[in-house]
Amino acid sequence: MKFEVTILGSSSATPIFNRNPTSQALNVNDRLYLIDCGEGTQQQMLRFDIKASRIDHIFISHLHGDHYLGLVGLLSSLHLNGRIKPLKIYCPPQLKEIVDLQLRYSETTLQYPLDYVFTNADKAEMLLDNQDITVESIPLNHRISCTGFLFKEKKRLRKLIKEKIEGLEIPIAYYSALKKGADFIMPNGEVLKNDTLTIDSSDPKAYAYCSDTLYDEMYFKQISDVTLLYHEATFLNNMLDRAIETHHTTALQAANVALITHARKLLIGHFSARYKTLNELLDEARSIFPETELAIEGRTFVIGE
Ligand SMILES: [Zn+2]
Ligand SMILES: [Zn+2]
Repeated sequence: MKFEVTILGSSSATPIFNRNPTSQALNVNDRLYLIDCGEGTQQQMLRFDIKASRIDHIFISHLHGDHYLGLVGLLSSLHLNGRIKPLKIYCPPQLKEIVDLQLRYSETTLQYPLDYVFTNADKAEMLLDNQDITVESIPLNHRISCTGFLFKEKKRLRKLIKEKIEGLEIPIAYYSALKKGADFIMPNGEVLKNDTLTIDSSDPKAYAYCSDTLYDEMYFKQISDVTLLYHEATFLNNMLDRAIETHHTTALQAANVALITHARKLLIGHFSARYKTLNELLDEARSIFPETELAIEGRTFVIGE
């Protein structure tokens, strides 16, 4: 099953040095989930071949402009392109008011239903549960209400061992029971144990998206042991005072989060406009957490590789 994230925007606050405000497209089993939607997200989707029409779920972490100012434009384009299937938005409640206002004064009635699921920055909640994944909100500590999102793959069915199954005359209708762990009883009464006929599927993977936040242990437990941790790293650690003042994290702190929560891999982003190049941020994070990568726009990270 596909589980990968493409970076569309990695800049904090403003577009600069060819970097765009935050947005990511998560592909789970060929279904697209958009995470944040900064200004320029539509252009980035065109550039990196992310089909907007295939997005059914949009997650907005908080209402600072660098995380949602591209949203109304995207909703409008979907309308103009003839979308009729529903779109779900997971966001702070105030976003509905903003969207409604913009649609009202442009006298636009969207052709498709917009369904909202409101997030609550005071507690973690299950936002989505479908056949492929679950998504929980992650309450963060920012200047305004902000949540991250935890995407967890569901445990998949066991896999049949072809060579063992062939020649046993097991009815095909029984295959789904085998995949769920059932033993098979031969016509002569002999019991074939499930683990001789199937193998376990790989462990479910998890992607934690930690948007803007102060370094704060309150969310560590919820994101422990994830396969890939995206964490903002707005500043170098020599700007720690500024990070604290603006409720952001330094690259060193982001690496520390990955270390303490046993992330398998770390992705840092949300880079301040003061950094023309990003090597220093990467080096600082790698000094304590070597498995760190930069959220470079256009790059796709396979979760689990
Ligand atoms: Zn931001
Ligand atoms: Zn912010």
